[in-house]
Amino acid sequence: MGENKGKIILQKARKEGFAVPAFNIYNLETMQVVLETAARMQSPVMLATTPSTVNYFGHDFLLALAEKARERYKIPVVFHLDHFQDKEELKKYIKAGFSSGMIDASRSPYTENVEIVKEVVSFARGYGSVVEAELGNVGRGEQKGTLTEPGEAKGFVRETGVDSLAVAIGTVHGIFKGKPNLDFKRLEEISNLVDIPLVLHGGSGLSDNDLKETIKRGISKINIATELKEAFTDGLKNYFQENPEENDLRHYMEAGKKSMEKVVAEKIKVCGSEGRG
Ligand SMILES: [Zn+2]
Repeated sequence: MGENKGKIILQKARKEGFAVPAFNIYNLETMQVVLETAARMQSPVMLATTPSTVNYFGHDFLLALAEKARERYKIPVVFHLDHFQDKEELKKYIKAGFSSGMIDASRSPYTENVEIVKEVVSFARGYGSVVEAELGNVGRGEQKGTLTEPGEAKGFVRETGVDSLAVAIGTVHGIFKGKPNLDFKRLEEISNLVDIPLVLHGGSGLSDNDLKETIKRGISKINIATELKEAFTDGLKNYFQENPEENDLRHYMEAGKKSMEKVVAEKIKVCGSEGRG
């Protein structure tokens, strides 16, 4: 068992002051766009799959694709299990071969969150896998979150031994309504107290400048999901508007891919991960 690749690239990012982009993928086409764009730009990359995406693919199918991807693309590629709330489900997939995963117990009280994360971390160690956890709670849509307390983050990392930490500093999952109010000072405090890579969730809709500012202040991994779905879908919609009779999947999927590729390339640039692969 060599050193975990996810751990290596996130530590490199933290040391060198860039962020690893983690793109949520949904099907083969979105996976291809992310891999091809990252390879062209020589960027390390994480491909994130939520529980529903893993179900949609079938985890064995996804693992086979992950192995092929690592062979084919000469960049660091990490498949990451995103937002698993059921620890047994996450453990099952770690056992099956996933090398990186997030246990999200951020809605549980602190001590419960610690217990759950500790258990998953110790399980993952046996398989050479790494674990991301969340402290505080990143909101979703209209649902308000809870910001991460810096002092608590320090204790949490020490108690759980977790490999990376998602922090809540004012971002929201999904489409952002209104102007984001990011707490950069809080992020900086957390980053000064905690020596593991920090993760930004809910970054869709943030300006490039805001994203760059979070990296400067300690974010080493940025999750991108909603903007990818929108770009892919817009590409398809536009294509069908112009070609309502089209029935060749390879033609219209290509339109979705082209549209999403722009977003992937932009985010790689903002993350500063271009040429680091
Ligand atoms: Zn998230």
